[in-house]
Formats: sequence, structure tokens, C-alpha cells
Amino acid sequence: MPPEIRIVKVAVPCPLYGTFDYRLPTLNGQTIQPGMRVRVSFGRQKLIGIIIEEVKNSDVPPDKLKSVSALLDDRTLLPADILDLLLWAARYYVHPLGDVLQTALPVYLRNNDDATPSLTEFWRINDSQGLSSDEILQSLKRAPKQQQVYQLLNDADTGESGNGLDADAFNALTDNWRSPIKALLEKQLIDVHVRPAVLSSENTSTRVVELNTEQTDAVHSIENHAHQHAVHVLDGITGSGKTEVYLALCKSMLAANKQVLIMVPEIGLTPQLTQRFLECLNTTVVILHSAMNDRQRYAAWFAASTKQAQLIIGTRSSIFTPIPELGLIIIDEEHDGSYKQQDGFRYNARDLAILRAKNNNIPIVLGSATPSLETLNNINEQRYNVHYLKQRANKKPLPHIKLVNLCNQKLHEGMAETLLSKIKQHLDQQGQVLLFINRRGFAPLLMCHDCGWTTNCLRCDAHMTFHKRRNQLHCHHCGSQRPAPEKCDACGSTNIVAIGAGTERIEHYLQATFPDTQVSRIDRDTTRNKGSLEEKLEKAHSGESGILVGTQMLAKGHDFPNITLVCVLDTDQALFSADFRASEHLAQLITQVSGRAGRAEKAGEVLIQTHHPDHPLLQTLLHNGYRAFAKTALQERQAAGLPPVRHLVLLRCESVATQAAQTFLQQAVECARQVDIKNIDIFGPLPAPMERRAGRYRYQIMLQSDQRKDLHQFLSWWAPQLQKMVSARKVRWSLDVDPYDTF
Ligand code: ADP
Ligand code: ZN
Ligand code: ZN
Repeated sequence: MPPEIRIVKVAVPCPLYGTFDYRLPTLNGQTIQPGMRVRVSFGRQKLIGIIIEEVKNSDVPPDKLKSVSALLDDRTLLPADILDLLLWAARYYVHPLGDVLQTALPVYLRNNDDATPSLTEFWRINDSQGLSSDEILQSLKRAPKQQQVYQLLNDADTGESGNGLDADAFNALTDNWRSPIKALLEKQLIDVHVRPAVLSSENTSTRVVELNTEQTDAVHSIENHAHQHAVHVLDGITGSGKTEVYLALCKSMLAANKQVLIMVPEIGLTPQLTQRFLECLNTTVVILHSAMNDRQRYAAWFAASTKQAQLIIGTRSSIFTPIPELGLIIIDEEHDGSYKQQDGFRYNARDLAILRAKNNNIPIVLGSATPSLETLNNINEQRYNVHYLKQRANKKPLPHIKLVNLCNQKLHEGMAETLLSKIKQHLDQQGQVLLFINRRGFAPLLMCHDCGWTTNCLRCDAHMTFHKRRNQLHCHHCGSQRPAPEKCDACGSTNIVAIGAGTERIEHYLQATFPDTQVSRIDRDTTRNKGSLEEKLEKAHSGESGILVGTQMLAKGHDFPNITLVCVLDTDQALFSADFRASEHLAQLITQVSGRAGRAEKAGEVLIQTHHPDHPLLQTLLHNGYRAFAKTALQERQAAGLPPVRHLVLLRCESVATQAAQTFLQQAVECARQVDIKNIDIFGPLPAPMERRAGRYRYQIMLQSDQRKDLHQFLSWWAPQLQKMVSARKVRWSLDVDPYDTF
């Protein structure tokens, strides 16, 4: 009898589909659970993989089977519900499982063997020694490095925070501190602690908000189904008090000892919201987003997974956080595009959240003033419940929206005179003004006034944006930069002009026109430094900045009470865009930014500039509102065979030489035609709307179907075939299931 061997299937972070079989070493009675990490050799690399399951047999002959080098965890990091979700997602998004798991795990766990000890560890002096710190320092005089480290801890502990020092703090103060720490720990002169990333309410809240009838109805009907799965859409106009509904729902979940996951589209929104939850509920909160460092993030993840935090507030990837007592998921601004990951593992966090709620048999709330067409379609088909908040909480009417016809108008940096005089009028009446333009930089391009030469990106089919303050050209597609030219590359003329306007140019012009008013620009360029967004939002909130100029960063959830005028400067581009979601986005944007006006005491006004005031989209939106627009838009999607009516998959491919990408896609189509493709239409290969980007040529194939099942059955066969094709090795390719755009 051969000795019994134990075999596990391991997901390894690599671009191949499927799992890999490894043999387990003899383990001293230790149990194996799916979701534990193992170190394995893979090709010539040593990688951290994740056990998916233990199996009896392998297709690999026993003598070829490699062994697991080390088992890294003594408990699973991915509880069954998360592992199931990830397995499902890998199949649904046709993405290599190893890479899916890699995306879901905190980066810290991908790079560190040890899953607990260095978790935001910090060290403090051990007070129970009965010796004074001077005596101890004296006793360490022959170990100067230990003495120094002890002194640092002593200084830190007598400081106001009394929090000890963590690795980051030590690194800032000294080097080579790890081994003295170890020595001091052995001598029991110091202790190690783990700092949870948890924020706690400081006082029991005394704040009482009486919910209005609509809010109460929404809360009651969601609570009536609190212990079973249902999707609840909270369709409430801006300022209608959706957040108050979330708070009420969380309150009863907390009373039942449940945890709640609250997802927001953008990092910028987390501090505001977190503050509100901490103030209104007596609770513990962790935040999870990509701007945190690896250790902070892991600490928050750990706190959620060990029930130390009741509320988990996070952006897209927080959907993968283990939350053992999860009772409710809330997705704020569910229509927002940032829930869709646009590269690598291209998942949609909103859709996965709905699946997670279903698997866990818990309710999920999708909140928005402008629900996505996907969600509206699901409401129409009675898969989702819907609760309306039709009134603003402050009972103020929604602001009046007016179109500004740009045709034949004299424009100043793209702004009509009527618009400028409105701005003046609002400023004179102590109002605050918000201008929205979805284009950063000074001007989208520079042009030679003598010969028409333009500043093009050498690596993309795109113009380079002029950034005046840095006097540079930036390509917003590939990131290339170069100094702004002093003369024309083609004819040598110095007669160079900036065409069009972005946020920087608008800011300049308005600051010059209204010198007594503080103009604040809020876009990615002005908020890059840590803390600068918070500072700008604070000044916007207090009214110190009289004019706010911003990109879509400003369109989301922020509540600025003093804004009385909102201007949308450019709509024409979106009206005629090739992107099938462009009109939906424009309608959402106009509705959302309009909601920024007149939140508090003063009535609001909204101006929208366009050369096409008669465009049916604008007319429907203005006269009949977002829901009426959405109804028309859904009919259009139906007629065009686009989502959410039909399902879409893109096979994208790019290569340095044009031919390689085309060849691969040609062969991909031929491969597909070998089988009986039921109910699936295949279009392409076609050039991507931007054919060349970052020096690569881009082509794509589009798959459409009414039947998800057929589509997925086909994809699960097709994708591994594509991976095996020789032509695949010369290109970069990816599948995008339910793509957000077709660019
Ligand atoms: P939304 O999330 O729908 O945009 P919020 O929940 O932020 O709206 O509410 C907008 C403002 O109205 C907030 O300042 C909030 O405190 C206030 N508010 C909401 N509901 C009520 C209520 N029932 N009574 C009084 N104030 C309310
Ligand atoms: Zn020229
Ligand atoms: Zn470029």
C-alpha cells in the first residue's frame, strides 16, 4: 500500500485559468480549510496561493506532484461566503481565479507570510516592572540601541496621546529598531499591542431627527423584510434625506447585533459620511479605501472580519471584506461608474453586492437620486422593491433649471455673458456658485494660429492637454508629459493659441473677473496632496470660497448649504458621444449637480449651456424629469440591443504592431465559429474608438446575447481556448463582461 497522500487544489496568482494541484506535507494534526494561504513553487517562482479545496485524486501523476512548501495560516482568511462569492465572480467575469483572489485579499496578506503579528502593531513600555524608567535606562547602558529605542517609547508614552509607537513612527525616528525591540520584548520591558483601525462614537447621540412620512414608510417596509433577501431601491431626489434612512436602518441592525456594509463611490465621501454615522449612532466604524496604506487597510479588514467594527464604510473593493455578522448592505449612489473596476479583474461591486446579499439571505439597499438604467429595468421587471422620497427634507422645491443657448453668443472662455451676469448677481446676493466642467487642465489642446498644427500625443490618437501653471502638455490617456512648445513644430511660428477651456482656464478667468471672491478649483490636479481635498471641501462648506470650479469630483454627494447657483458649462460633447452610456451619464450628472443648489435656506437656480437647446434628451429631462428621460433611454437601448436589455461582453486586444492584435481577434472569431453558438451575436474585430493608446493599437470583438446562460456557457469554453492560441502571446487581451463603456 502506498502511503496516503493528501492533495489540495490551490489558486495561484497568475494569468492562467483554473487551480493547480499540490501535495500537502505532513501536518501535525492541523486541519486544512479552504481559504488558507500556502507558499508554493510555481515555475521558477515562489508564490503565495490559496487553498480552494482538498481532493482525493489528481490528474497529475504522484511523482510529478509538487509539495506545498509551507502552510501560512492556522485559520481561514476567506470565510465560506466570501470564497463562494469569489469563485462565482471568477466564473462570471471569466477571470483567472488566482488573480481574483489576489484582488480580494488585502495587499498586506499578499506580501507577508504572517497574518497577525505585524498587524498595525505598536509597542509600549511595560509599566508592571516596578522599576522607574530611569533605572531601566540605566540598566540598558551597555546596549545603546535598546536604550535609545526604550527612550523613544518612554517619550512617546508620556506624550499626550500615550499611544506608543508603531512601525511607521519608528521608521520616521530611527533605523535598525526591530532587533532592539525584540530584545526589549524578551526582557519584558515593553509590550506589543495591536491597534485596531476602529473609530468609535465618543458620546451617545442626543440628536433627534424626526423622519418624515416618506422616510418612515421606507424604513418600515425595509425593516419588515429585515431577515430575508430583497433588493430595495431607495429612489430619493437629492436632499430628500436618504442618509437619514440609512442611519435608521443601521440603528436597528446594530440593536440586533448585526454588522452593516455601506459602500460609497468615492474616497472623498467617506470622511463626511463616517462622521455622520459616528455622531448619530453609538457605534464602531472602520473605513476601507485605496488611499490607505497596506497595513492600515489590513487592520480595518481584520477589524471587520473579527467583529470589532459594526459598520464598514468603503469603496469598491470593500465588497470582498469578510463580515461575519453581516445583516445589511447599503450601496450609496448605486448608479456611479466607479463601482465598476476598469482593468485587471473587471468586476462590478454593486452587482457582486447584490449577489452577496442574496447568498447571505439579507436585504440590500441601493440608494440614488438617479438610479441606473440597469436598476430601473429590474424595478420594471419587479425583481427589486422601490421606495420613493419625492420631497426634499427641508421642504424646499428643487431648483429651477434653465438652458442657456450658446448659438451666436459672445463667449468668454466658453461662458456666455448671460451666465456671467447671473454669477455676478448671485455673488452680490451673498450666494455661492458652483461651475461644473468635466475637463481638467487649461485647454484641451494648443494650436498654431498660422498653420493649424496641434499638440498631439505621440503615443495616442488624442490631443495633449495644456496645463498652464506647470507650462506643460499632458496626455490624459497615457500620462505622457512634455514642456509646452514655444513655437510651432511644423512652421516655427510663435503664434500659438489655446483652444477650448478646462477647469484651470475657467478658474483663471473667473478669478480675474471677480477679484474680491475666492475661486476654488477642485479637480484631480488641485487635490493630489494629502489633505488638500479636505481643506477645499471645508472652505466650500463654510462659504469661504465663493466660486467653486470642478470636475465630476464635485458632482457627487457633497452637501454645500450656501450654493444658490449651479452652472453646467459643457453638455454638447455628451449629447453626441459614441459611448452608449453617455446620455445616461449626462442626465445623471445634470440631475445630481442641480441637486447641489438650494440645499439650505436660499432658493437655487441651475443653468445649463448648450448649442442644442431643442435636443430631446434635454427637453425631456427639464420638463419631465429623470424618470421620464430614463424611460425613453431604456426604449432606445431596447431598440439598439444594448444593456440592460441585452447582455454585452467585449474581448479587447492591444499590441504594439497593428497586425498582431487583429490576427489574434480574427482567430478568436474563427475559433468561436467552430462551435454552435446559440443566441449569441458576434461583431468585429473592430478598431476601438481610440485606436491607438499609449503606443498600442487597440481592437475589439463585441458579443451580444439575450441569454446570459448561453453567453456564459460559451465564454467558459472560449476563454481557455483563447489562452492557448499562439497569437495570444504577442498581444494583451482581456474579457470585459458587462462592460461599462466600449472604449
Ligand atoms: P440625501 O442623502 O438624500 O441627499 P440627506 O440625508 O443628506 O439627503 O439629507 C439632506 C439634509 O436634510 C441633511 O442636512 C439632513 O440632516 C436633513 N434631513 C434629512 N431628513 C430630515 C428630517 N426628517 N428632518 C429634518 N432634517 C432632515
Ligand atoms: Zn505652425
Ligand atoms: Zn497619450
